Amino acid sequence: MKLSEKVQAYLDAINRSKLNAFVSINKNAENDAEKIQRKINSGKAGRLAGYVFSIKDNIAVSGMRLTCASKMLENYVSPYDATVVKRIIAEDGLIIGKTNMDEFACGASGETSYFGPTLNPHDEKRVPGGSSAGSAASVAAGLCDVSLGSDTGGSIRCPSSFCGVFGLKPTYGSVSRYGLVDMAMSLDQIGPITKNVSDAALVLSVINGSDKMDNTVVKRQEDYTKFTRKNIKGMKIGVVEEFFDGCDHNVEKAVRDGIEALKGKGAEIVNASVPKTSIAVPTYYLNMFAEFSSAMQKFDGLKYGFRKNGSDLNDTVAESRSALGEEVKRRILLGTYITMKEFRSKWYSTALKAREAIKHEMLAALKKCDLLTGPTMPFTAFKLGEKIKDPIEMYLSDMLTVSANLSGLPAASIPLNVKGLPVGMQLHANAGEEGKILAAAAAYERATK
Ligand code: GLN
Repeated sequence: MKLSEKVQAYLDAINRSKLNAFVSINKNAENDAEKIQRKINSGKAGRLAGYVFSIKDNIAVSGMRLTCASKMLENYVSPYDATVVKRIIAEDGLIIGKTNMDEFACGASGETSYFGPTLNPHDEKRVPGGSSAGSAASVAAGLCDVSLGSDTGGSIRCPSSFCGVFGLKPTYGSVSRYGLVDMAMSLDQIGPITKNVSDAALVLSVINGSDKMDNTVVKRQEDYTKFTRKNIKGMKIGVVEEFFDGCDHNVEKAVRDGIEALKGKGAEIVNASVPKTSIAVPTYYLNMFAEFSSAMQKFDGLKYGFRKNGSDLNDTVAESRSALGEEVKRRILLGTYITMKEFRSKWYSTALKAREAIKHEMLAALKKCDLLTGPTMPFTAFKLGEKIKDPIEMYLSDMLTVSANLSGLPAASIPLNVKGLPVGMQLHANAGEEGKILAAAAAYERATK
């Protein structure tokens, strides 16, 4: 099929879709398709020619809106491309649109968007997971080939698990964050959400590597595509028993079957333990609140986006910030509180120490094996409205994903071969060892095909 026909078919499918997965559509998509097609015809096209991308709406694409699914940025148009977007376009990837998400990436369900919730393509009464809700839903529903999401505490892996697609959060500092609206700078990473493992390996190969616009990325660009063909014989995979605590029976069964499939491919399965998983959620939230409240200071109605004039400067800032949603406001207030001089030692400093302790345990467990595994989420996609009224309940869903971010480690969610609602199996590796995750995930894919 010609690229322009494929793009047209996707645009029609997006138009018909009721999932609310997209916030904006690229008006130049058809022109872009023709340009890329000409390159394909002349044999000069890049590695991503033929791929149609959706991009989470907290990643800048020049000339398109960058809303973060917030009223605050509803009409803000980005004047530049994020580094990851630049690299995709340079390899002839086509961007079809920007995807819906939890407002400023705050959520695990896709329900906090100013533009309304995204629906799960497997059951429209259920959430797709968040915060990269539209990214995972758009891939799962066949509205594009691949997507970019961002993951601060699980936002690539959670919706990948709920929507039955592959999602990878790379090692902290391996993919440039230039052009990503930050949520919590020390935790955020951009990564691919795809239908299969080899697409993720290809996209990661294009977007990773040092960038003069982001000094936290130090490593040279690496090609990951070779890993998907690697044999996993003798690879040591640690099953973390604490990752199964409190998880639903059907999820546990599916993941244990997945582990058996890896064993069938020659992996050596061993026991592993990360007891501090029990404090991962409060540790993540306190760290994230502190960084988030600081990152959100720039949205004051004076520099970007929505502005509502008040009686004086303070009043104008307060009025303008009233555009933010409830969950975002809650986090700004809590982050401000825990970093106040009077309370800092009680809350924020303690949270920093807890973060170190979790990282220490994760690294110790990874000293004894190549990968750590367990479920991505403790349950399958829940119903719309089920958890949104109870923030603590919502926060607890992140129990199994946040440790990777707190430790800076790469982790992925692999869609398991199950009947009914999708279940994801999570794999963690040492920093820089995405290759091992991709090898094991590809071996699972082959085993279950
Ligand atoms: N669910 C988590 C939160 O609400 C993770 C968000 C994310 O990774 N962006 O903070």
